[in-house]
Amino acid sequence: MTSVNEPTPSRRSLLTGGLALGAAAALPLWATGQAQAATGPSIADTTAWGARPASSPVRVLSTPPQKIIVHHTDTPNTTDYSQAQAFGLARSMQNWAMDERHWIDTGQHFTVSRGAYVLEGRHSSLVALQGGTPSVESAHCTGQNTVAIGIENEGTYSTVDPRSEQYAKLVELCTYICRQYGLRAYQIYGHRDFNATECPGDRLYAMLPQLRRDVAARIGGDPTAPVWPLLHNGDSGDRVRALQYLLVRRGATITADGSFGPATEQAVRDFQTLVTATSDGYAGNQTWHQLAVPVRQGDTGEAVKAVQLLLTAKGVPTGVDGVFGAGTLASVATFQNTAGLPADGLADARTFSRLLA
Ligand SMILES: [Zn+2]
Repeated sequence: MTSVNEPTPSRRSLLTGGLALGAAAALPLWATGQAQAATGPSIADTTAWGARPASSPVRVLSTPPQKIIVHHTDTPNTTDYSQAQAFGLARSMQNWAMDERHWIDTGQHFTVSRGAYVLEGRHSSLVALQGGTPSVESAHCTGQNTVAIGIENEGTYSTVDPRSEQYAKLVELCTYICRQYGLRAYQIYGHRDFNATECPGDRLYAMLPQLRRDVAARIGGDPTAPVWPLLHNGDSGDRVRALQYLLVRRGATITADGSFGPATEQAVRDFQTLVTATSDGYAGNQTWHQLAVPVRQGDTGEAVKAVQLLLTAKGVPTGVDGVFGAGTLASVATFQNTAGLPADGLADARTFSRLLA
């Protein structure tokens, strides 16, 4: 039995291996199959560390992840840097997840130990990553478990930094995940960006801008994370209306009238409670991170309306019909050009946050 599972080229990369380099160079990595040939860190799979079977089948998702979320395990900062210690940690985390939390398996997709070993968490996470195929539903961040890859870093990083060896391995793992899934460096977040939690600790959280820069140095692109406005009771205007559209999308029974009154405040609180964000009625970082979903050509609904409204407010007139067609695509690209963003026509967190600026 393999003790450590080395990343291997996937079937897809083998199939596209004959692609001429000149042609491949013109396409993004994820579109050419080259991404699947990217090499990453050695990752010990669930067999290697002696995992129990999941209590029921893990759910394979139908769409690729949109982001990476970084955690700390909130366990002691051990000075045992051995592989055996890392494997023991993986087993104890799985036992905790299954026996204490009654999850079907380990919560996160991957773990980086203090000794810089990288381990698969939930079953099937590694084979999905190596193939560049959608991952499995996880249990590491309420509200994000179908759209985010979760990485646990062994230790408690509230007052001390991770070991440099551990941090370097985290950079390597994030780079590999970004390449395999076509993610960008700005799509790396910390747990506290979404839920009311101290995780991943003040010190590791403060290192995330550096982590994004270090990953961007390897894969290119702008590492600047989205910055969101803070809206609250008494505010009004198009940003409030966009917020209301997104709340309605998540089940709120309010009217998108652009006025942040008591009903909108209650809707914000209800949503924050639903996703275990800090329930204060203020629409800030956590709320936007949880509400903003990427929209692209072919999408329909309230989130599309929010984007169309904000495009118009930014001087790019776009009909607010909730249908992301060719016209909206052109509007998004026009806005992205004027905002100095890559004109990819995708209204994801970066473009959305700039529309709200
Ligand atoms: Zn966490």
